Amino acid sequence: MFIGFGSNIGDRVDFCDRAVTLLSLLPHSQLSGVSLLYETEPVNDHAQPGDGWFLNGVVRLETDVTPKSLLAILREIECSLGRDEENRLGPRTIDLDILFYGQRIIDEPDLVVPHPRMHRRRFVLMPLSELDPLFVHPLLQRTISQLLAEAGKQPEVRLLFPQPSTRYGSRPACSPPPGS
Ligand code: ADP
Ligand code: MG
Repeated sequence: MFIGFGSNIGDRVDFCDRAVTLLSLLPHSQLSGVSLLYETEPVNDHAQPGDGWFLNGVVRLETDVTPKSLLAILREIECSLGRDEENRLGPRTIDLDILFYGQRIIDEPDLVVPHPRMHRRRFVLMPLSELDPLFVHPLLQRTISQLLAEAGKQPEVRLLFPQPSTRYGSRPACSPPPGS
């Protein structure tokens, strides 16, 4: 399954990094892909002038955790990274969304999968297409590549450059041997 993450306040790289690290530690789960980081103009329906640009990315997780439990875990991670519950729509330290859970279709009051707005969001489709361009959206029956080609060019999404060297999976495996 795929989880989207985004941050637009504070040390955004660090919040993304910590969210990915926490996801990599989930029991009964295996993190099997992490996208690069993308920088995105704030677009959500509630964006205020002056809101910061988002950093966005996507991870792929192989997991036995059920969608409901996963949603609860994502909320706990958001909470532990200081997301302001009082002002959920304002700037956020971290936002975690379940994008796809295999080909499962879920339509419940607190959980809708596939995520209902993801197919229009380039900041989700670009990192997703890095991880699995041929993944088929179970409702729309279109691949990520097709959805990306059909999404408008706005808002602007660009690859963060340079990519932080401390990102998950690219940090040095260990410190240099003593005496070196
Ligand atoms: P958004 O991510 O749309 O900017 P929020 O993170 O504040 O806004 O919305 C979170 C709410 O959306 C949660 O209360 C959760 O129950 C609900 N929700 C519905 N579907 C999903 C999903 N696929 N992934 C994450 N949250 C979801
Ligand atoms: Mg969310």
